[in-house]
Amino acid sequence: MPEHSEKIYDIFIAGGGINGIGVARDAAGRGYSVCLCEMNDFASGTSSNSTKLIHGGLRYLEYYKFRLVQESLKEREVLLKMAPHIIWPMRFILPHSKGMRPAWLLRLGLFLYDHLGFRKILPGTSHIKLNNSEFGSPLKSNFKFGYEYSDCWVDDSRLVILNAIDAASKGANIQNYCKVTNVSKSDGLWSITTTNSIDGKQRVSKAKSFINASGPWIDDVLESSFKKKNSKNVRLVRGSHIVVNKLFDHDRSYICQNNDNRIFFMIPYEDKFTLIGTTDIDHGQSAGKVEISEEEQLYICKSANEYLNTEISLKDIVWSYSGVRPLYDDGASEAQDATRDYVIKVEEQDSSLMVNIFGGKITTYRRLSESILKHVEGFLGKRGNSWTEKSSLPGGDIAVDGQLDLQNKIQMRYPFLTEETIKRLVRSYGTISFDIYGDAENIDSLGDHFGSGLYEREVKYLIREEWSRTSDDILFRRSKLGLSLSEDEIKKLDLY
Ligand code: FAD
Repeated sequence: MPEHSEKIYDIFIAGGGINGIGVARDAAGRGYSVCLCEMNDFASGTSSNSTKLIHGGLRYLEYYKFRLVQESLKEREVLLKMAPHIIWPMRFILPHSKGMRPAWLLRLGLFLYDHLGFRKILPGTSHIKLNNSEFGSPLKSNFKFGYEYSDCWVDDSRLVILNAIDAASKGANIQNYCKVTNVSKSDGLWSITTTNSIDGKQRVSKAKSFINASGPWIDDVLESSFKKKNSKNVRLVRGSHIVVNKLFDHDRSYICQNNDNRIFFMIPYEDKFTLIGTTDIDHGQSAGKVEISEEEQLYICKSANEYLNTEISLKDIVWSYSGVRPLYDDGASEAQDATRDYVIKVEEQDSSLMVNIFGGKITTYRRLSESILKHVEGFLGKRGNSWTEKSSLPGGDIAVDGQLDLQNKIQMRYPFLTEETIKRLVRSYGTISFDIYGDAENIDSLGDHFGSGLYEREVKYLIREEWSRTSDDILFRRSKLGLSLSEDEIKKLDLY
């Protein structure tokens, strides 16, 4: 028999990706009562499988998506100030050679990119010579010059987790491994059944409004939980990335144009690696398990080899990941042409509110949340003002360029930690690192060591404060230590 909750929530949210969690945080901060259920781990869907850029999207200018580009460009500095521990400025080199988009068009695009977003912190575009430069040395010699512009890097899954921590600290009931399995209406309220995938327990909650933030699963939720037949609103477009050992030593990324006119990135990743991607193909299957195909792996290697001095092949791939973009189906013929903008569909009937979220980007999650809150306010009445623009995410109470300073402070307080671990702590937890390590005086006080600087003390924190239930939660979403730990070390963590 399902357990029935007495409480009537203002808002129930299905889906713990960036969009659902972003709405939960904003709403809880305005004083609404919120419950959010995620069927797997937070960010286990698309939100940990992105290219990890807070960007305007240079290529969207070609599609005249000025609203989307401008909103995204403005968000870069807002988000950078909110979370300078997990988001940092990154310079992108756009190498140029014959046969590519003409140089005048690139200059025009970059001029717009520099000026549409009212930049104050990020430096603007510059021309760069590539021959005889450390930035040109990984590239073939036909790339003699290029342009360099700014965007930001984000640890996407940590962005979700930090928003979740903040939402919970503001009173939201946030749960992972808890699937929405049925939704019905009675007495003007939504009645939502959830099933916990760990203990199998069912629970029925009541809410005045329901937000479907299930991303690629949005049509599944409409069909299986709402019993709506033939829901076909979303176009699932798969994007995959490969990770190879570091291809270059500097901190710049490359944005490259492919023979088919698509663009892809080569980005410094987790200190020891280079991240390359993405692809853009219709997924053609249900949202379930998403994996890179061999065809995609070959495509990415071939694309990179058009640029690189040293060729890469399938054997160089140390890791890969894939995600599906839950794009609103606007009928575009090619996957890469489908709109990346978010679409919010609102249904208000029988004194209840239902909102479906389609598409969107990590970059625009905060603005999307504000738009949704406008609908919620219209329905439930206003409780508080919009507040997230000037807020810090947990651990992000440092200056925009304050990572090094924080590293030094952690080093002074915990001199027994390695430089590599301290850098990881700063870029995962920011000032929360002091709560995790607390009064630790030496390495022995950190408990068991699981490898690569991951000690029992951090694992306990991740279980207690960040909802970690499996070793994958810890190794691939709370961190990327899964790339460094050996099989035996992972087994040890599994058994913990
Ligand atoms: P998701 O993150 O998929 O979250 C939906 C969640 O709902 C999932 O966790 C799922 O488990 C859960 N769920 C489903 N059904 C149920 C249910 N019945 N009950 C409970 N929970 C349920 N954006 C950028 O800004 N910058 C980038 O560089 C970028 N690169 C990208 C690269 C790729 C390859 C892809 C695919 C996307 C990229 N994006 C990027 C876009 C961005 O990643 C997505 O728009 C965003 O992550 C979508 O978030 P979401 O919350 O809507 O979906």
